[in-house]
Amino acid sequence: MTARDRIVDIDRRHVWRPYTSSEDHESRDPFVIVGAEGPWLRDADGRRYLDGNASWWTCNVGHRHPRLCAAIARQAESLLHCSMAGTTHEQAALLAEELVEVAPEGLERVFYSDDGSTAVEVALKIAFQYWQQNGRPKRTRFVALSGAFHGDTLGAVSVGGVEEFHAVFGPLLFETIRPPDPVEGDAGWERAVERIEEVLRERPDEIAGVLVEPVVQGAAGMRVWPAPLLGRLRDATRRADTFLVADEVFTGYGRTGPMWACEHASVAPDLLCTAKSFSGGVLPFAATLASGRIYDGFRGGKDRALMHGHTFCGNPLGAAVAREVLAIYREEDVLGQVRQNGSLLQEAFARMAELPGVQRPRGAGMVAAVDVGEAGYYGQIGWQVHEAARRRGAYVRPLGNTVYLCPPLTIPTEDLRRLCEIVEESVQEVLAGIPPAK
Ligand SMILES: *Cc1c(COP(=O)(O)O)cnc(C)c1O
Repeated sequence: MTARDRIVDIDRRHVWRPYTSSEDHESRDPFVIVGAEGPWLRDADGRRYLDGNASWWTCNVGHRHPRLCAAIARQAESLLHCSMAGTTHEQAALLAEELVEVAPEGLERVFYSDDGSTAVEVALKIAFQYWQQNGRPKRTRFVALSGAFHGDTLGAVSVGGVEEFHAVFGPLLFETIRPPDPVEGDAGWERAVERIEEVLRERPDEIAGVLVEPVVQGAAGMRVWPAPLLGRLRDATRRADTFLVADEVFTGYGRTGPMWACEHASVAPDLLCTAKSFSGGVLPFAATLASGRIYDGFRGGKDRALMHGHTFCGNPLGAAVAREVLAIYREEDVLGQVRQNGSLLQEAFARMAELPGVQRPRGAGMVAAVDVGEAGYYGQIGWQVHEAARRRGAYVRPLGNTVYLCPPLTIPTEDLRRLCEIVEESVQEVLAGIPPAK
């Protein structure tokens, strides 16, 4: 048995992989990754793959950026972990200051946690408790969009709206107010936002907050929605004097162009969640940012404290890496690279959509998507494209029949060009083998 086969064998016997049926786990041939660098993943057979989804939307500055490796080594010299229970440390303090510096205006406080789901849980609990102890105890419900994905813990699932991820847990969830699914086109999104405006007008006393993935809904299939509607949600939440919560776990750190997707509409939310590329995709590390007003709502006795915390919150190693990520953004013009690479990526996907059987090109900055074939009937197409791309040297994980790219923002232009070619060739190959739809 080769070393690779041994790993796969043990994996099949003992590992439980995310979003993977037992049958798929035991029958599909996994990538066995042994190394990574920049936009490349390297497997146990010595093959290289361009990382088409930045390893689950995280490593925006590429794999093993030398400055991130050095930051980890440096931090390991002095302190790997201490709690934040009556203690603090340099990295957590400085990171908070540096993060507030680049955050949308008015976000002044940083609550640390471990991943995107916890960042969302924290935002929900902050908003809820704020109203409980500041004179609006009937504000117990959240409003969220259909197709929303905010993580996999139960609170985050309660505000989520992707059937495939959430249906089975229905009985465990709290109820969220959700306008009808926008499905197609800007008019659908506008109707959804009108519906939220209506709810905020009619029942402002019930609403603890409105939660959105600004401008791009990731897990729902890279659904892009018009930025001006985000501005309207900001206005409507302000009129109702309730909170706008921006889940920038995916869209933050330049994925859609600017540092935060909220900037597309010059919106400053009351709460903002960040994770994924917050740590450069290196460590589980997250934060929920809050306005000064919200923080002030927790003044008073001990019984008014936010009753929430995670063992590893503010972990020094995570904080040191996250600080280095921000330094890289400041000093290596990462957002400038997004502008350049982004237009190449969007053009490639617009061209691809001219192929018969390919539809709905969409994207923003360094995320681009098309739908291939019909949903449902051709449900396996996305995975066939994934396999075809794998043979050509790229890792392109689909979302159903949505084929998308979301590579490291700093991918060298030549590699990005090749990655787009691989996707196009793979889509063509798969569609050529499928009888045309009636
Ligand atoms: C991935 C994601 C989350 C959940 O983050 P985890 O780190 O997987 O818990 C939350 N919100 C959005 C928008 C995401 O894309």
